[in-house]
Amino acid sequence: MELLKKFKAVPGTQYGSPKEVWGFRTKSHRGRPEIIAHDFLKANADKLLLKALRLRRTRIIESLGAHHIIHQQRLKGKPIHRAYVTVHIARGGHVYMVKNRAVPRELLKPSADFKIGKETARRKALRSVTKKQGQAQVFRAEPMWFPLKSKLRPAYRVRVQRRKPRAADWLIFIDGKTGLILRKYDNLAAATGLADIFDPNPVISLQRTQKLPLPETRRLLRNEKLGLSVPEAAYTRVTLRDLNLSGYLDGPRVSTRLTKNRTRQMDRKFLFSAGKKGFNSDNRAFEEVMAYYHINEAIRYLEWLGYRGARAIFRKPIPVDANGTQDDNAWYSPHERSLTFGLGGVDEAEDAEIILHELGHAIQDAICPGFGQSQEAAAMGEGFGDYFAVSFFADKKLRHFRTAFASWDGIVDDDLDPPRVRMLDEKITYESFDHSDGGDEHDNGQIWSATLWEIRTALGREIADPIIIESHFQLDGFTTFARGARAIIDADRNLNRGRHIARLRRIFHLRGIGPVE
Ligand SMILES: [Zn+2]
Repeated sequence: MELLKKFKAVPGTQYGSPKEVWGFRTKSHRGRPEIIAHDFLKANADKLLLKALRLRRTRIIESLGAHHIIHQQRLKGKPIHRAYVTVHIARGGHVYMVKNRAVPRELLKPSADFKIGKETARRKALRSVTKKQGQAQVFRAEPMWFPLKSKLRPAYRVRVQRRKPRAADWLIFIDGKTGLILRKYDNLAAATGLADIFDPNPVISLQRTQKLPLPETRRLLRNEKLGLSVPEAAYTRVTLRDLNLSGYLDGPRVSTRLTKNRTRQMDRKFLFSAGKKGFNSDNRAFEEVMAYYHINEAIRYLEWLGYRGARAIFRKPIPVDANGTQDDNAWYSPHERSLTFGLGGVDEAEDAEIILHELGHAIQDAICPGFGQSQEAAAMGEGFGDYFAVSFFADKKLRHFRTAFASWDGIVDDDLDPPRVRMLDEKITYESFDHSDGGDEHDNGQIWSATLWEIRTALGREIADPIIIESHFQLDGFTTFARGARAIIDADRNLNRGRHIARLRRIFHLRGIGPVE
């Protein structure tokens, strides 16, 4: 095995040994990659400050073009925390890179000996998380050496999981001599970010903040079609909650991971004015930010209603492709349980009501798998999505716009005042349901959404939203308006002792939906 001559190195700040060595490529070596790695480290031990260190091979990872051999440094039979040495070997047996976090020989003297046992360490770790019995689960304590200011402390690594009041997954390092906590991380800890977004869309926000007449709003926003941007006044600054620390738009409820070339901001700031490429609506990342923010907030609302813990509707993050097609379309996929937003016309994810409509399909499918397989169920799916979105944002809208669904997506049609994709208060009844093969579920859905909106108007959001969502738990994929109506009545019975049944029946009767006796 050859000695390294020409190479580049990233010097380590902690130990003085090179942290990363690259810019070289050895000649081809035959044999098993782990043997090549071993020979290479042995030949270059001086250069890498690895002389006389105990390295144990822990993993061999095979990728398409290379093998990656991971070694863990040990001392007196115990691993040293984070002291890894990884050798990267390209196909054909060429070593081309080494990463080195090993502690060099002169620093290998522990600054103390183990005094406490594993059980004491577990107890101390558990007690640092909760004082109450049975609230957390503690796993076994692993003895190790913990580098602290260039010294090695004897330590135990203990994992503690907690469910309540907030789920947490702690990794705790307990000093093996003193029993004090050396370090403690919660792997589930979340961070917040900042973003400028549309809430729910620029038509509504300009009306709300600028009080401009509609033609003026239209003129301002129409500029976008001329290649000019939506004015800054249309944006709202919000806190992005529950982000993990990756810099991506990833959290426990939603992840934009299906989006190609997804945005990554290590400072978690997605602002209109951020640098050269601000996060305005012309930026492809804007749709991702919109999807993350609005889906996270909407699912938080469901949790606030009580659908959390054992009653949670969603058990894992909903994956989103925020720029998934050039078409003027958005959809929920029941196979992948994912959401896709397109870029035709107004970008779909630039209107939060479109986002929440699609989330509505995801909610129904999560509660009631395969929802929407009959014509009436499909119409209820569309109607519920419109209702869920409009109900969610109603308080942010001036009265004139309150029942207009997706006024930004619908801005292109000059004849519509208010601009919208659909309305929630059409004066239509079940008699106008188009049962023919050409019947459109979105049109038919307006009978259902108008009924739901009427319930909300009569009972208020705090009563209407819960009974409407709760009703889905007794429905199936082939349901009908009549059964949906009876399910809402049952939900009122279960949640409110049936206080609103008389009013609900009246609403269903007047819409021609029933029988509901
Ligand atoms: Zn839909």
